[in-house]
Amino acid sequence: MLGPRNEAVQRQHPDLLAPAPTDHGTLPNLKFAFDQTHTRLEVGGWSREVTVRELPVATTLAAVNMRLNPGGVRELHWHKQAEWAYVLEGRVRVTAVDAGGRDFVDEVERGDLWYFPAGIPHSLQGVGPDGAEFLLVFDDGEFSENSTFLLTDWVAHTPRAVLARHVETGEEQLRDLPGREKYIFAGPPPGPLEAERMPGPAGTVPHPFTHRLHDEPPLKSPGGRVWVVDATDFPVSTTVAAALVEVEPGGMRELHWHPTTDEWQYYLSGSARMGVFAAEGKAGTFDYQAGDVGYVPFPMGHYVENTGDGTLRYLELFRSSKFADLSLRQWLTLTPEPLVRAHLGASAAALLARLPREKRQTLA
Ligand code: MN
Ligand code: MN
Repeated sequence: MLGPRNEAVQRQHPDLLAPAPTDHGTLPNLKFAFDQTHTRLEVGGWSREVTVRELPVATTLAAVNMRLNPGGVRELHWHKQAEWAYVLEGRVRVTAVDAGGRDFVDEVERGDLWYFPAGIPHSLQGVGPDGAEFLLVFDDGEFSENSTFLLTDWVAHTPRAVLARHVETGEEQLRDLPGREKYIFAGPPPGPLEAERMPGPAGTVPHPFTHRLHDEPPLKSPGGRVWVVDATDFPVSTTVAAALVEVEPGGMRELHWHPTTDEWQYYLSGSARMGVFAAEGKAGTFDYQAGDVGYVPFPMGHYVENTGDGTLRYLELFRSSKFADLSLRQWLTLTPEPLVRAHLGASAAALLARLPREKRQTLA
């Protein structure tokens, strides 16, 4: 290269700069870094988003990375899309009410999940000495965090006389109401959890909106482990299925694909290389670091290698009620050997015939 270049960017994308000889043809862009997005800075915290506007191929899911300072409130709101979340650090107080008048108040911490179905009103608040940071995932790539239905925005755009009638008082009693939306604001720390759990006459929601992902043991295989969570264990999460994948140094998430829908990824720690096979002789390789979003269009084959010295951790997310994957290796070990031999030759077929026939989501 003789012309201008950005060496810092080049170093993060070695497989775009010097592609493997097996890469071929045009693939859509399958990577976007949260660190390339605009941060919406507020007094009580911040947010930034990767949606179809940043990563056009990602039509199924959109995501927001949000920080709430201690006491910081993401205000009472609702939206068209369902919201799935993973707590990155700290503790979060969540509240919600469903259409049956049943309420929900809980507190979650690092590694925990929540899910609010579409249209259900909810709030989030950072608690403890550090507040919290988390990843929000919405079941539509067109979602924007700046287009949700906010309590204060509605109040600011409703005549005072109407609001006064609604709460059976006079307009002069409502002079403290905000004149514009708050979105994220600094709030006082919430009261003790048990004191704030005061169910109304209809009681609490039948299925909790929160879930402790790490309460269940992971699926273990050589080179790593996978926690799968979908509507089977987390019944309210009917539109988002997930897997948290850990791959040890030198290991890989094996060659596989998903038979139902696209895969949306979020890299939590470490670094990775993903190879994607797109049919028609097309293949591409992409590199990821912590904080990046990756994507695999339905139903392209792919693998993910740990390219760093530490454990690679990332989330695989699907707009689906059920997690499902197909392993290339298991497929071939369960296919008659002569048929495999006719495709791949005698030595590969003999090797495959000796491998365990169980699915291995990761390999050492
Ligand atoms: Mn929300
Ligand atoms: Mn996958």
